[in-house]
Amino acid sequence: MNYTPLALYIDGELLAGDGRRHQDVVNPATGEILGRLPHADAADLDRALRAAQRAFEGWRLSSPMDRAAILRQVAAFTRERADAIARHMTLDQGKPLAEARNELLSCADHADWHAEECRRIYGRVIPARKPEIRQMVLREPVGVCAAFTPWNFPYNQAIRKICAAVGAGCAIILKGPEDAPSAVLAIARMFHDAGLPPGVLNVVWGVPSEISDTLIRSPIVRKVSFTGSVAVGKQLAALAGAHMKRVTMELGGHSPVIVHEDADVARAARHLARFKVHNAGQVCISPTRFYVHDRIHDAFVEAFVAEMRKVRVGDGLDEHTDMGPLAHARRVPAMTRFVEDARARGARVLLGGNPLDRPGFFFEPTVVGDVPDDALLMTEEPFGPIAPIARFSDEDDVLRRANALPYGLSAYVFTCSLRRAHRAAQELQAGMVNINHFGSALPETPFGGVKDSGIGSEGGSETFDGYLVTKFVTQI
Ligand code: NAD
Repeated sequence: MNYTPLALYIDGELLAGDGRRHQDVVNPATGEILGRLPHADAADLDRALRAAQRAFEGWRLSSPMDRAAILRQVAAFTRERADAIARHMTLDQGKPLAEARNELLSCADHADWHAEECRRIYGRVIPARKPEIRQMVLREPVGVCAAFTPWNFPYNQAIRKICAAVGAGCAIILKGPEDAPSAVLAIARMFHDAGLPPGVLNVVWGVPSEISDTLIRSPIVRKVSFTGSVAVGKQLAALAGAHMKRVTMELGGHSPVIVHEDADVARAARHLARFKVHNAGQVCISPTRFYVHDRIHDAFVEAFVAEMRKVRVGDGLDEHTDMGPLAHARRVPAMTRFVEDARARGARVLLGGNPLDRPGFFFEPTVVGDVPDDALLMTEEPFGPIAPIARFSDEDDVLRRANALPYGLSAYVFTCSLRRAHRAAQELQAGMVNINHFGSALPETPFGGVKDSGIGSEGGSETFDGYLVTKFVTQI
């Protein structure tokens, strides 16, 4: 099987072997071992920290034009190399090839956006109280960043953090997903080929808690950025707080979907089904809890189940596949637990509900009806292809239920009423509210959550905020 060579990337060098510990990388569609990923040892982490510190001293003074040129080159490489990288990402992560390719092409846009935006990191002049005084606000790169990215969008999650750090003039040490490492290594190779000075970007692998502990405690690191689960995000934010480091946290969600009685039911069902099985539901902004108005409930459920029934499950390398496997063996029993809990609480399984009897980590597209609000499916993030549906009859009540969880990442509303749309936009406690379509995660729009779903935004004109510090200069 043609799969990418696996390595660490430190101070401009790809490193493997030399007696380092390693772990196997597995194809989730077959269970087959694809390669051996070397873990960084203490000396590697120390080298990455020192390299990043040294590189930052030069990179912080680089021209935004030079940073933009590198980011634009990375965008071009991403488009050129998309087919090969997508194939490796399907092999180690499981998503269908077409989804992997789309992820890459959208990432090329992210790199281009950061190339444009990094030239517009402006300070300001504040009018002074005396004519001989000049008061200036400068925005400077924060320093060396430690970043931790997950396995669900291996390329996208990493490139957003790397582009923001590099574009702002920071150096970065990134620990990518050990289960699906090929995409992050492809990014490292592109920045290398684009001429990024050694040490500005470093990629390490290992036991996540050991690496984050070492990097966050190091006085060299000034900023921590993490995408992953709320539980881990809280631990890392607490450690970063204890060492007074800035954080960006992109954490889990539990996105409510409200389908009002005046919605275009067929359209809502079609769009929601397609988005629900995207990346086998392993998406932090996946539509998660469905609240459907009593008057259209049965029509919606029928249309939604019919759409979900059409989904073709299989190996992502097969061009007919709509939905691939879950990314890990551990996610399959997690799905079964959600379904069993819902059943025990009186819910009805309307479609699927079981693992597929074949090699790999497959679970059926699943729809569960009449799910009570206290079921695990309605309170914990399933992160899989399961759609739980509940009824509502009162607008105030559904907004209250939508806001009842500690999460606040994304929310979806389907309605033809301007008043209802406006009210939802105003009342929903979420970082991103999508009305009648799915429009989040573009490079030019901010992506981030409120409440337990995180701190800060990636993308949009906010994208560099987390990577800059403010310096005030007054001069006479
Ligand atoms: P997990 O909490 O074990 O891991 C999530 C991610 O965090 C992984 O990439 C992991 O390598 C990393 N991680 C874990 N402990 C860490 C530590 N101490 N320091 C640094 N990184 C650490 O969960 P999982 O089983 O891999 O995934 C399941 C859950 O994770 C999902 O239910 C979902 O809530 C969450 N998740 C969220 C996103 C997202 O995009 N927000 C992505 C992946 C996973």
